[in-house]
Amino acid sequence: MRRKHIFGPVLSRRLGLSLGVDLIPFKTCSYDCAYCECGHTTEETITRQDFFPAFEVMAELREVLASRPRLDSITLAGSGEPTLARSLGPIIAWVKREYPEYTLSVLTNGSLLTDRNVREELLPADRVIPTLTTTNQQTFERIHNPHPSLRIDEIIRGMEQFRAIYKGALWLEVFIIPGLNTTDAELAGLKDAICRINPDNVQLNTLDRPPAECWVEAASNAELERVIQALGRTRGVGITGPRPPASAAAQVETGATDLIRATLNRRPSTVEDLVRTTGLAGGEVAKILGTLERAGEVCSKRMARGVFYMICQEPDDQERL
Ligand code: SF4
Repeated sequence: MRRKHIFGPVLSRRLGLSLGVDLIPFKTCSYDCAYCECGHTTEETITRQDFFPAFEVMAELREVLASRPRLDSITLAGSGEPTLARSLGPIIAWVKREYPEYTLSVLTNGSLLTDRNVREELLPADRVIPTLTTTNQQTFERIHNPHPSLRIDEIIRGMEQFRAIYKGALWLEVFIIPGLNTTDAELAGLKDAICRINPDNVQLNTLDRPPAECWVEAASNAELERVIQALGRTRGVGITGPRPPASAAAQVETGATDLIRATLNRRPSTVEDLVRTTGLAGGEVAKILGTLERAGEVCSKRMARGVFYMICQEPDDQERL
């Protein structure tokens, strides 16, 4: 049976061996981030919905977890913003009741932490990882192209309210785009917000794969180090760890990876094309493409319809073309 909601396990830089759970149809989100590795958001919304029945996700999880595989995390993430799913709360509660031995993580853009129901539904999770890039509304709109009703000061307030009641590990992801959120004013705003949110850990992140918009650039290690100095080391500010070796990552993904290789052998495709033709979850497709690209097997090229992925040609083949 091809799984619609579960992907991996994949070797994550932050989470170790992580089994992905995707609650959202591709690509539904409250943001349309310039740096999104899944391409542009096709359904931008802040309305929580019943996208898929919770029992469908639970049935897939039950099947995968029947053999009690070794995992560092079961992670809600994938094709968009997981807190938009009304099944979020029931699935978190069910996983922690049925599989308490596993660490349950939730990757979220944090925009719905303004909603009391979302805050309460997240409480049983072991680890919640929201994203913060700026405290400035103009920069927020430039980076995230958010739903028009969203205000960054309200979102930060939602993060503070969540921290006040949440006993699990709150890791704050700060995504760095050089020249945009790295000015002295931006970093001072971020430092202040981090103090107010009081996370257990702050992880800097930067571009790793082709972004939705071509103007986004990755920060260098020197730039990240400068950001760390500006934010201060007192609250565990650290740079997200080095990438896992490509060979190790590839080992845990064989079936889905072969399917993507076979599709790309037929024709170059975007993430969206691959989601449609393979039936795999968006998050899984993006992760596998990243692994193959780092291993030098797959190349990417930006074209009018988005970023296309293709099998890299051997130099000899290229000469023959
Ligand atoms: S990076 Fe995350 S929050 Fe931003 S558009 Fe993509 S899925 Fe949504």
